[in-house]
Amino acid sequence: MSEALPPVGAADTDPRTAELGERLMAVRQRITSATLAAGRGEEPQLIVVSKFHPAADVVRLAALGVRDVGENRDQEAAAKSAELGGLAMRWHFIGQLQSNKAKSVAKYAFSVQSIDRPQLAEALAKAVARQQDESGRPDLDCYIQVSLEDDAGAHRGGAAPSDVERLAESIAGAAGLRLAGVMAVAPLGARPEQAFAKLAAISTDLRGLHPDAVAISAGMSQDLEIAVQFGATHLRVGSDILGSRPPVG
Ligand SMILES: *Cc1c(COP(=O)(O)O)cnc(C)c1O
Repeated sequence: MSEALPPVGAADTDPRTAELGERLMAVRQRITSATLAAGRGEEPQLIVVSKFHPAADVVRLAALGVRDVGENRDQEAAAKSAELGGLAMRWHFIGQLQSNKAKSVAKYAFSVQSIDRPQLAEALAKAVARQQDESGRPDLDCYIQVSLEDDAGAHRGGAAPSDVERLAESIAGAAGLRLAGVMAVAPLGARPEQAFAKLAAISTDLRGLHPDAVAISAGMSQDLEIAVQFGATHLRVGSDILGSRPPVG
């Protein structure tokens, strides 16, 4: 993250910007094709996951027209968003979050997509309220992360489907939080079709109780087409745009 920030608009002179531009275009084309194939009228929104990549890459993405980025660690996201305070970027928090980090996340996050327990919702509500008093930040978009594992093994985070209703209540009832919808990561070693069909059903149930909670954040580099097929409204794509990163997180 010590790399100097390139000037915004350097797409024709900076090779990394050109590379990101090509990869971004390829992903956008995949999204367009998948949307057409699914017979859907509107394309899902792309969130470019910038975790492990330097702030300079986020500047390049901004120059390429990206307005939504995803991060999964508070320390990294807080540093990047502070460094890039002048960019009109929306920061989406997509990683496991300890309640004691809520205060920090409320300073920069447009959404938190990984809410998996009522205590975290409570901590975020408190932190957002304080931030709204201090700086007038908008309400926080909140996604319930749902676990789509059939068993407890190889857990990739999230609330059990049976806990979604209770968690939705605690978010919907909190000032400063807006219940946006659900988020999930397809389980390793299982068919993403099954996982995303399950998530779509959970979303339908949720919308029965909270009609505005329409968002379905699903789909990453490997499975974005399948997520589009099963109704994803938001896609979180990292490595297919930014390249590989260290195999953690
Ligand atoms: C890293 C990450 C992504 C992006 O994954 P890629 O395979 O790099 O596209 C999406 N969602 C979550 C929750 C992540 O942690």
